[in-house]
Amino acid sequence: MQPTSALFRDNVTKALLDTDLQTALSRVDKNFTARRTAAVTAMPEFEALRDDAVRIKDHVLAHLDLYLEKFEEIVRTNGGHVHWAKTPEDARRIVLDLCQAAGARTVTKGKSMIAEEIALNPYLEEHGITPVETDLGEYIIQLADEPPSHIIGPAIHKTKEQVSDLFAEHHRQYGKTQRLIEGVDLVAEAREILRPRYLAADVGITGANFLIAETGSSVIVTNEGNGDLTQQLPSTHIVIASLEKIVPTLEDASTLLRVLARSATGQQMSVYTTFSTGPKRTEDPDGPNAYHVVLLDNGRSALLGSEFQEILRCIRCGACFNHCPVYASIGGHAYGWVYSGPMGAVLTPAMIGIDQAHHLPSATPFCGRCEAVCPMRIPLPKMMRHWREQAFERKLDGVRQRWAIRAWAWLAKRPALYRRMTGLVVRYLAWRGRPLGRMDDLPFARGWTATRDFPAPQGRTFSARWAQSRKAGTP
Ligand code: SF4
Repeated sequence: MQPTSALFRDNVTKALLDTDLQTALSRVDKNFTARRTAAVTAMPEFEALRDDAVRIKDHVLAHLDLYLEKFEEIVRTNGGHVHWAKTPEDARRIVLDLCQAAGARTVTKGKSMIAEEIALNPYLEEHGITPVETDLGEYIIQLADEPPSHIIGPAIHKTKEQVSDLFAEHHRQYGKTQRLIEGVDLVAEAREILRPRYLAADVGITGANFLIAETGSSVIVTNEGNGDLTQQLPSTHIVIASLEKIVPTLEDASTLLRVLARSATGQQMSVYTTFSTGPKRTEDPDGPNAYHVVLLDNGRSALLGSEFQEILRCIRCGACFNHCPVYASIGGHAYGWVYSGPMGAVLTPAMIGIDQAHHLPSATPFCGRCEAVCPMRIPLPKMMRHWREQAFERKLDGVRQRWAIRAWAWLAKRPALYRRMTGLVVRYLAWRGRPLGRMDDLPFARGWTATRDFPAPQGRTFSARWAQSRKAGTP
């Protein structure tokens, strides 16, 4: 996927004016945040579980080389193969070689953000191999020829009517002439179309939610069961995963699975949790004959020991997306690359460069909801501030913005003057807003008041009111 993060402002304008997108996004709060809250409230030990999960991942990151080597050794012992990919190009080439060696014409795919990160589908197509997405959301966006807009709900930006149009257009070739409206009918039709594709596929490609060092297993969680069919029916199973997905033991994986499901979809556990441990053994009734794991770095090892290391604790639950007011307004595509939301605002600059992605860490009100709900306690706002510092140092912000920050910094270092100046400004704004009780034209912020009113200030700054309350003994 060609990044468009540098065009973030244009992307945002487009997203805000897209009525279908706005309708689709309005479902996010209902579907995800409420369920997460209910699941977390119903589990008194959730906070302790979060602490355990953080400890596990911090331990792994401190000994990443050790666990990766152990994982490779056990996978080999189990009859599988591990391939190391430093860059997306390396990973694509390895996957293509494996597919060609298997004589593949068609590959089925489970949902994988790493496959998106390395732009695997167009690459396979260029080389005459047809990738078939089997996760329903991924299938929908494959038909629409769009990237995912959410890490756990790739087609969350689509309304049911849009999906209905897509199916009507693309399923005609399979003799489906009736335009479907109900969700249940759409799902049934997708299932009917996909079922024979599983059987025809030569290779199945999945991602991995976790890789377990002690057993050499890859773990995927799905709610559709598509991942199981993808990895068990074809003769070759390829797992593509990033380095930090490793966990030491089965027990650690179980702790992380418990926080993942609750944070992602509000479930106690995902419907299917599948462990793959090597190719089919003689006594197994089914399974692939070959099992390969492609481990992608793509800049992650460079984050170790940096101020961004903690982002490697991310388990891709999507909770920070679902609770972010910016994501709720603009969706995922506006971020211009594979990862969006608060997590993407931290990870994307690390992967495509801060020069390309410097708008993303600025797209936040710093409300802190992302950090509050992140099961891995990742300090996302702090890391966004680090990126903003880097953007400022590299002079990537506009001249006006830089001067405004400089002026503010100069003033903020002189508290008495700061208080006097802000007091004057607030009194002026209160006077301007008094006739209407609001402001419909704000100097220096006409972009804001062009589409909405600004509440008129009460007339005194917070500091002044705080000082007065303290004096009165009622802070
Ligand atoms: S940053 Fe935290 S909340 Fe966001 S996807 Fe990762 S683990 Fe989930």
